[in-house]
Amino acid sequence: MFAKASSLMVSLPSSSKARGQICKMGQCWSKNRVLYCFGDLFLRPLKLLSGGRRPFGVVRFLCNASSAAPSLQIELVPCLKDNYAYLLHDVDTGTVGVVDPSEAVPIIEALSRKRQNLTYILNTHHHYDHTGGNLELKARYGAKVIGSGMDKDRIPGIDIALNDGDKWMFAGHEVLVMETPGHTKGHISYYFPGAKVIFTGDTLFSLSCGKLFEGSPQQMLSSLNRITSLPDDTKIYCGHEYTLSNSKFALSIEPKNKALQTYASQVADLRKKGQPTVPTTLEREKLCNPFLRTSSTEIRQALNISASATDAQALGAIREAKDNW
Ligand SMILES: [Zn+2]
Repeated sequence: MFAKASSLMVSLPSSSKARGQICKMGQCWSKNRVLYCFGDLFLRPLKLLSGGRRPFGVVRFLCNASSAAPSLQIELVPCLKDNYAYLLHDVDTGTVGVVDPSEAVPIIEALSRKRQNLTYILNTHHHYDHTGGNLELKARYGAKVIGSGMDKDRIPGIDIALNDGDKWMFAGHEVLVMETPGHTKGHISYYFPGAKVIFTGDTLFSLSCGKLFEGSPQQMLSSLNRITSLPDDTKIYCGHEYTLSNSKFALSIEPKNKALQTYASQVADLRKKGQPTVPTTLEREKLCNPFLRTSSTEIRQALNISASATDAQALGAIREAKDNW
């Protein structure tokens, strides 16, 4: 692995001081100037980071807000074997949050490089590989932990419990809380309408959905339908880098899908180079993700799902096939 010079670092504020705020919709809303785009890849030598090997070749991936007045940056931080945590940075106020820190060390390293503080920890669900860094990060930075009210007894260190339909503000950016159960009962997704970004945890992956540990196919279908009702250009930040494996399963049950063929080949190229496949877009997932394509004749025929089966039954059959694949 090698270091690659990146002009991105020039655009990063280095002296801004985190001073996050929380309030309900309307109390502190200010005219948002959130625009968003995808940034460059930044590779660093693996051993620079913690004296040990990181599980990913790609250490971080920065996605810059880009406009006349950029204000939201999203940085992808690989954790554990194949998890992604996301650092949210509001440039105007210096406020920083992290979504689903599976472990503390990679987050601390990313924050230290930019001399940033951490104000918020957002969890999509209680699983250890999404909350494992909560307590250490909270103790170090005094960050507030945010999670589902339904899972308040299972999320380590939770301070702020949010429920379906709640509007929360991240440094002036509206965040809509959507309950998206199926993988777990209390799973929530965080939607930033201004930035057209959603953090879907283990509900929607690129080319797949989460395993149904605590929910039914009908619940997962309803959760996915809620997400697919968002604008097609919504960017999806999911909890894991599973896309290459997912693409192989998807192709096995819908081999004639041209959009899927093209995307699968792009995914293979990206992973060969050690680059992430996240974020994906809703538009692409609708065209390629078998769990959003339960009415596909080709998929139904491949898995012997009857034409009269409901979408929930089809989703259950696709999930079962993938679990056994
Ligand atoms: Zn999970």
